[in-house]
Amino acid sequence: MPGFELFGELERKEVNDVLDNGVLMRYGFDGMRNGHWKSKELEAALQESFKTKHVQLVSSGTAAVSVALASAGVGAGDEVIMPAFTFVASFEAIMMLGAIPVLVDIDDTLAVDPKAVEAAITSKTKAVMVVQMCGSMGDMDTIQTICDTHNLLLVEDACQAIGGTYHGKPLGSIGDLGCFSFDFVKTITCGEGGAVITNNEAYYTNADHYSDHGHDHVGNDRGAETHPFLGYNFRISELHAAVGLAQVKRLPEFLAIQKKNYTIIREALSQIPEVSFRTVPEGGEESYAFLNFFLPDLEITRKVSEAFKQNGVDVCFHYYDNNWHYIRKWDHLTNLKSLFPISSEVKKGLEYLKTKEFTQSDHYIARNISCLIKLSWSEEEVKERANKMVHVIKSFI
Ligand SMILES: *Cc1c(COP(=O)(O)O)cnc(C)c1O
Repeated sequence: MPGFELFGELERKEVNDVLDNGVLMRYGFDGMRNGHWKSKELEAALQESFKTKHVQLVSSGTAAVSVALASAGVGAGDEVIMPAFTFVASFEAIMMLGAIPVLVDIDDTLAVDPKAVEAAITSKTKAVMVVQMCGSMGDMDTIQTICDTHNLLLVEDACQAIGGTYHGKPLGSIGDLGCFSFDFVKTITCGEGGAVITNNEAYYTNADHYSDHGHDHVGNDRGAETHPFLGYNFRISELHAAVGLAQVKRLPEFLAIQKKNYTIIREALSQIPEVSFRTVPEGGEESYAFLNFFLPDLEITRKVSEAFKQNGVDVCFHYYDNNWHYIRKWDHLTNLKSLFPISSEVKKGLEYLKTKEFTQSDHYIARNISCLIKLSWSEEEVKERANKMVHVIKSFI
């Protein structure tokens, strides 16, 4: 999902536009900026891309998750249900609000299992946060129904799923709030940046104020502003937004290349009966940012993963053994290590992590290999890679 691969003239032009004009901040300086509003322009472009009423740009994807939850009133002591296969950022963003992340199992979609979500609901549960890992999704209809039944917020961490859809809706636009990241390794990049999207006017207004010290942004040149409530600073800068503005224009091109490269590799691996692929729910379409497949058991998966590396098949990951995306390797979270004191309520709320087994998630993650799909590969390179992968896998089964 690498926006950083195809990067050049367009981005340079947008950034120079900001530098020539001299206003690096997204708010105020109305007179000085001579009509340059890169952040606003990017928000408008994302509104279109994600088919949503409102977009609030922020400084990162992690900030987006925190701002989204805060905007909907999630805070101290509230429980937020999320998957065990995720990125640490989703966990951190909940902790930052004094809320409690409740991790549950995933299923063969590699997204949260609706049955596990339902089983984890308590009187303290406020929200369900799905994480659309590696460009795809779980059974969103069932999760939505569970949220409706129990009156819970549905929040989507769609940071890895820019361009994926479910029944025609962009991932991120299905729940009450959606979160995106535009860090350097995401499908489109701002360098650093993120966005909260929602169709809910009140949540949007809250996100707008909360992410800029509680300022209500009323009046020309911020002249008549007040602070309706406490906020913090999660602003994006005009320089970052300028990069994103160039990138978002190229998103359809990026997605088409991803799909083409993904399809070549998938077709090659499909010849091997022992290889299966992550389930994509009916009505869903992946963003094709990653190709995820399962091998018969952990031992074979370890061998294949190692042999990929030896044979120059890079950017394929076995998350069971590396420490990027799975609770198994996050000792700093299971045995909570914090620089500063954490409230006793949150500490107590996290005790389950010391003993909880994620057997069902292990079953999938242990056998999963996740290959990043790059944009810069030539067709020849993709075919050669696919052949090597088939060869390696066949040698172990
Ligand atoms: C990248 C990512 C984030 C955080 O984004 P940053 O912009 O790096 O803060 C959150 N969740 C997931 C699933 C991600 O992949």
